[in-house]
Amino acid sequence: MPIKDCLFCKIIDGKVPCNKVYENEKIFAFNDINPVAKKHILIIPKRHIENIGQTKNLEIFGELLISTDIIAKKLGILDSGYRIIINKGKDSGQIIDHIHLHLIGGETLGLLN
Ligand code: AMP
Ligand code: ZN
Repeated sequence: MPIKDCLFCKIIDGKVPCNKVYENEKIFAFNDINPVAKKHILIIPKRHIENIGQTKNLEIFGELLISTDIIAKKLGILDSGYRIIINKGKDSGQIIDHIHLHLIGGETLGLLN
């Protein structure tokens, strides 16, 4: 069920434009508007889930994680590698309350903080 005021639900519905990278029945992926690396993709479930604590639905996490290699291959960074980040809550800097994986790569990445 899309949430009316959720930016990412609006992107999935096509009400807000994005640069789509990949889509299947369960998930949707698009370029981050403010990339922190040469490649920076956001991967989201089509069903609105606020954050990593908000679902016991393991299938959706499986779908999200299985998609990363598929998307990396499309981006041409499957061999060079990539990093996945999930933010939750204030200290992490989560600003959009629709769970999303950040997939970053395309260059040598800095250390984890
Ligand atoms: P987070 O801090 O984990 O909640 O990440 C939210 C991400 O969404 C940030 O990296 C933003 O740059 C990105 N973002 C915000 N608005 C848009 C948009 N309209 N299209 C694409 N990415 C967006
Ligand atoms: Zn949403």
